[in-house]
Amino acid sequence: MALRQLDLAADRIGLDPNLRTRLRRPARALIVSVPTRMDDGSVRVFTGYRVQHSDALGPFKGGIRYHPEVNLGEVSALAMWMTWKCSLVGLPFGGAKGGISCDPRRLSRKEMQGMTRRYTAEILNFIGPQIDIPAPDMGTNEQVMAWIMDTYSMHKGYAVPGIVTGKPVDIGGTLGRREATGRGVGYIVEQAANHLGMDLTKCGALVQGFGNVGLVTARELVRLGVRVVGVSDRSGGIYNPKGLPIEDLVKFKEQNKKLQEFSLAEKITGKEFLKLPCDILVPSATEMQITKENAGKLKCRLLAEGANGPTTLEADKILTDKGVLVIPDILANAGGVIVSYFEWVQDLQNFFWSEDEVNKKLKEILMRTFHTVLELSHKEQVNLRLAALMIAVQRVGRAMLMRGLYA
Ligand code: NAD
Repeated sequence: MALRQLDLAADRIGLDPNLRTRLRRPARALIVSVPTRMDDGSVRVFTGYRVQHSDALGPFKGGIRYHPEVNLGEVSALAMWMTWKCSLVGLPFGGAKGGISCDPRRLSRKEMQGMTRRYTAEILNFIGPQIDIPAPDMGTNEQVMAWIMDTYSMHKGYAVPGIVTGKPVDIGGTLGRREATGRGVGYIVEQAANHLGMDLTKCGALVQGFGNVGLVTARELVRLGVRVVGVSDRSGGIYNPKGLPIEDLVKFKEQNKKLQEFSLAEKITGKEFLKLPCDILVPSATEMQITKENAGKLKCRLLAEGANGPTTLEADKILTDKGVLVIPDILANAGGVIVSYFEWVQDLQNFFWSEDEVNKKLKEILMRTFHTVLELSHKEQVNLRLAALMIAVQRVGRAMLMRGLYA
């Protein structure tokens, strides 16, 4: 899917074939064994990955995912999308992604810490504040970033906060990073709704995935006056056309209860969830959720991709033909990497900003990018995804040509 997207953009902008050949592959793909002592005394060997796609625009940057389905293909696609995302929003970063094939929900805190530290040690020579800066993604969080930062710092002999972003604020993280991705989705939905002339206070929204991105997005939508009528997670979804009390749901989840046990809503299977009536749909779980099988049945007018790669190319075409405005992942969820960039800058300068400053700068970048993409999509008569990719690939290509070929 990532390669086909690249081809579409490359064809449209007439990208130099030599650049295209290079950009179809990662710069470096690392597979490591991660032996981990389990609580019962046995040793399990997990497989870890770090894929660095392109550093034409700056150091590699991208999240680390802990999920049973993590594999080299998925990590490589996610790394390529990171290259486009950083390029699109104008950050001085290239794209990377990493992960460990594991089920974090079945690991104790001690096992997770051991696995994270060993993984960090295995990729240690390939990461660094000027080389490749990891961040959280599915299944990882601030705590995991703190362990990576500590392991890296122990090896160097001094504290290196700039090695990861998405860290706890106490050890060099930035205010506003935890909320940044969902907050960014909110800013983008607000702009897109304005563009479409939608009155948000009359809109209902579905949010698939109730983790870091989904939960904050749901909160932001409520702040904008939207009724969040459905949310879902791995275990299924819940629906209430009158709107769900998001803060109550957050408390409910904090007690480790299943979403579907929430009494003020109807239970919905994961499969049926996306087809429920709504004006706005925010997939914020995982890849390839909207396919040619269900795209025709979606009811939304606006779809903002909180997750990376939730819509297949076939589904994209069906949605475009139906007149649904799809805000592509590399724009809709770019808030996370933008504030990661702010965190990296603050760490390098040892000078920290207020949360207002972070949010203001985040909004500025997202608004500017949204309008640039919208303008190109009108000019070229293409959907927002293709317009965004055209801008992103063009910038990376230009940088590669300027830097030339080192031989
Ligand atoms: P997370 O682990 O915090 O949450 C993931 C959520 O999705 C959980 O609620 C989980 O139960 C749910 N989920 C998983 N599979 C599902 C399925 N098939 N159907 C319904 N729900 C399902 O992860 P996150 O950090 O919120 O990331 C979610 C997505 O957003 C990923 O695609 C990630 O790459 C992308 N993303 C995350 C960030 C970030 O800053 N965390 C930034 C940009 C993009």
